[in-house]
Amino acid sequence: MEAAPLYAGKAKSLYPTDDPDQLLMVYRDDATAGNGAKHARLAGKGELNAAISAVAFGWLEAEGIPTHFLGRVDPVTHRVQALRMLPVEVVVRNRLAGSLASRLGQPEGMALPEPVVEFYYKDDALGDPMVLGEHLVALGKMDLDQVGRVRASALAVNRILAARLGRAGLELVDFKLEYGLSRGGELLVGDEISPDTARLWDRATGERLDKDRFRRDLGELVPAYREVLDRLERDHATL
Ligand code: ADP
Ligand code: UDP
Repeated sequence: MEAAPLYAGKAKSLYPTDDPDQLLMVYRDDATAGNGAKHARLAGKGELNAAISAVAFGWLEAEGIPTHFLGRVDPVTHRVQALRMLPVEVVVRNRLAGSLASRLGQPEGMALPEPVVEFYYKDDALGDPMVLGEHLVALGKMDLDQVGRVRASALAVNRILAARLGRAGLELVDFKLEYGLSRGGELLVGDEISPDTARLWDRATGERLDKDRFRRDLGELVPAYREVLDRLERDHATL
């Protein structure tokens, strides 16, 4: 990629295209944790996340959930619709893990009776605090109708992903989504859906096949992501 990026985040870079409504999203090999405190370059991670995300967006589109994904341009690049991102990370949880396990003082792995949806206000200075939808409304970041639509969409995404991943022997413990508005005002799922942003546990062994390997030094990350992609591709081949 020759031109300067419009934006370079912790793991991806965005580039302009000739069409102001479309961007190129490049998945890099950078891995970060603890809001950038820990950093590494893991050769092959970008390509694996781009491939896994493309499969996941394809599932959502096939089930009528609108996303920003327009196609793959090369192994690390997606063409996406340019969105005005809502400053919120939407986390859906099926089992206790990570920050919620700590917050509730319970061991990781406990199944939740119903999926839990949480909102985190994206603000680096505040450290992305967990907030209520109503707080985002109070801040003027979303209206109440959008809060409801995001919540319903995130639960629908959860049903689709959990079912498809389950068929590949993967337990969808939790994941994060980001939403944005297209120029026409349509609410779309943006960003990425990958083992960087979702906890995926092997259903048979409980082995973690996601970014917790890096966050917690549980073993090599790239072979685990490759295993996830291989399983999704095997599952696809048997459809
Ligand atoms: P971060 O910004 O947290 O370091 P990334 O490295 O993943 O994260 O950068 C990707 C950035 O692109 C994020 O800020 C995300 O909100 C933004 N983004 C995702 N999808 C789109 C889109 N379709 N249009 C515009 N921005 C997007
Ligand atoms: N997550 C993410 N980006 C973030 C925070 C969380 O993609 O900035 C994902 C994370 O991978 C997990 C889910 O959201 O799948 C819930 O994360 P949690 O709140 O438990 O935070 P963590 O334990 O990762 O700090």
